[in-house]
Order: sequence, then structure tokens, then C-alpha cells
Amino acid sequence: MDYAERLLAWFDTNKRAMPWRNTNDPYAIWVSEIMLQQTQVDTVIPYYEKFMDRFPTIHSLASATLEEVYNYWQGLGYYRRAENLYKGAKMVDEEYGGVFPKDIDLVKRIPGIGPYTLGAILSIAFHTPVPAVDGNVMRILSRQFLIEEDISRAKNRKVFDEKVMALMPGDPNRFNQALMELGALICSPKDPGCIECPMQPGCMANHEGVTNLFPVKTAKQKVTVLTYKVMIIRRDDTYWMEKRPEEGLLANLWGFPLVPKDKFKRHVNKDWHINKLKTVSHVFTHRKWELEPLLIEFRGERALMKIIEQAQEGKFVSLAHMNSIPIGTAFKKVIKELQTYRH
Ligand code: SF4
Repeated sequence: MDYAERLLAWFDTNKRAMPWRNTNDPYAIWVSEIMLQQTQVDTVIPYYEKFMDRFPTIHSLASATLEEVYNYWQGLGYYRRAENLYKGAKMVDEEYGGVFPKDIDLVKRIPGIGPYTLGAILSIAFHTPVPAVDGNVMRILSRQFLIEEDISRAKNRKVFDEKVMALMPGDPNRFNQALMELGALICSPKDPGCIECPMQPGCMANHEGVTNLFPVKTAKQKVTVLTYKVMIIRRDDTYWMEKRPEEGLLANLWGFPLVPKDKFKRHVNKDWHINKLKTVSHVFTHRKWELEPLLIEFRGERALMKIIEQAQEGKFVSLAHMNSIPIGTAFKKVIKELQTYRH
């Protein structure tokens, strides 16, 4: 049995049932691939099903509002993915007549579709022979063939693309999925399941006992810590929330006003009545927020008006209504502290 035959035989008997595996609709595969970025399959399935019920076609997604799309994304996090999917659907609807293109150059123009997602959609939906190389695939190949190129450097991606193409049989659809599945189920980052691995007979890292040295990954980016005071401004039983800017972390989502810790003191005066809540932290890809929530009530309206006037868009929201607007996970943690404090 050659490489592909061995891998595909394993895939056919071991693949997990997933709703997007029952279709060759490129839009459905696109939605699933975007949701699966940074999120586990089991978490994605219920979100995917609800999303596809509400937005079954590219046109239905393109005709919705971004606010509604965010509502269906709530809980999945990384909202930039939802925004790009929405922009992409609008583009396909307006420029390609609502039909997902087969042409690689046309797909490359769609927002949010990088080389991996492009490969996954085209190979799964249209059986186009293109590689779909993600972290799973790089890990497997680097171990099996002792590829020493650093997987954290974008320029090395082509080494893995070429390897996939050299191994790919006439069935790119199953082959790309099988590689991803092997990485997800067997060849895991820590403690790979070599004993049950179908590819073990030809795996060089396994033969040489060096699986822990592969993949080679050196360029770790540092995580920057940013500390903010979170202003939870109360008026009666509602709290001031603002829509975040269009760019940057948690873009377009709602949250409380943030002030860098070192600049906070200059805002405060005797009109402010402040209670401290427990600090929460939230880690993004390369940034960490330390959030120090303050429950604030103003004596008199002047200080309050000053803050409200600075916001691009904002409103007072009751605790009960906070789950009906799209709020980033970092702020949801703050809301949890607020609920605990109040009860
Ligand atoms: S034998 Fe081990 S290291 Fe090699 S591909 Fe299989 S699980 Fe990965």
C-alpha cells in the first residue's frame, strides 16, 4: 500500500461524523472551515447547525445585518472571522452572482480566505487538486519525513504545500480531510498516538524516537500585557455600554469603556463614587488584557455626560438585556463579576 492508500483506508473507517461532511456545497464548507479556526469540532457543531438554518445560502447571509450575524456567532469568539465571512458573502453575492467560484484567483480575492481555507474549500467541494496545509498537516509531515523547516515561518509553507502535492492521489477531497483528521485524532502535538497510527510503518520521527523534536517551531511571538480600568457606569439599574471601533481587538462588538491604568487617575474627581470588582484577564493571540473593573456612580450628570459624549455609539443596558447584544468574551467575564458582585 502506498502512502495515500494507507491513509485513506484509515480515514474511511475512522473519520468522525460532522454535519459539513454530508455536503459538497462550497458555502457550507466555507462556513465550517471559518468556524473551525481556533475552535474545537464539538463546540462548532451546534453553532454551525443554527447558523446554516438561519443563513442557508450565500445570498441569505449577504442580506442580513452584521449585528445579526454576530448574534449567531456569540460564544464562538474571534468575531473578526464572522465579520470577514459576512464581507466575503457580500462580495460573492454582488460580484460573483451569489455563486462560489471554482477559479483559484477569484477565491483568493474573498475576504478571510487564506491559503489553507482556499485549499480546504476547493478540494472538498470541487475536488480541485490543491493543498490544504494547516498546523495539523505541518506537524504530521514534519514528523513523518523529518522536515526541519521552521513551521512558524510563513516562507516555509511552500515546503509543506509541495510535499502534500507530491503525495496527493487522484482524490484530493478525501486526502486533504484525511491528513487533517490524522492530525486531530492521532498525531497530536503532545504524546502522539504512534502505536495506533496507520502511518507508523513509514514514519521517520517514530523510527528514530524523535517525535518530540518535530515540528520545529522557534519564532514564538511574545504576549504583550495591557492593563485597563473598566468603567462600569451605573444609572439606576442599567450600565453604560459602547460599541467598539471598527478596527482592532473586539472590533464592532459592545463593551464597557476602557481606560489604560496609568491614565485613569486624571479622570477621577469628587463626583465619582467607585467600587472595585475582581480583576479578570483575557488572552488574545499576542496580547493579554488585565481588566480591573470599577463600578462607578456619578453624583450629578456632568461627569456622566462627558463620557457619553465621547462615545461614537453607546447606550444604557440592563443586566438582563446584555445577552441580546454582541459582546466580546473579555467583557463577558467582566459582566460575570458584576453579576456576582450584585448578588
Ligand atoms: S507514527 Fe506517530 S509521529 Fe508518526 S505520524 Fe503517526 S502519530 Fe505522528
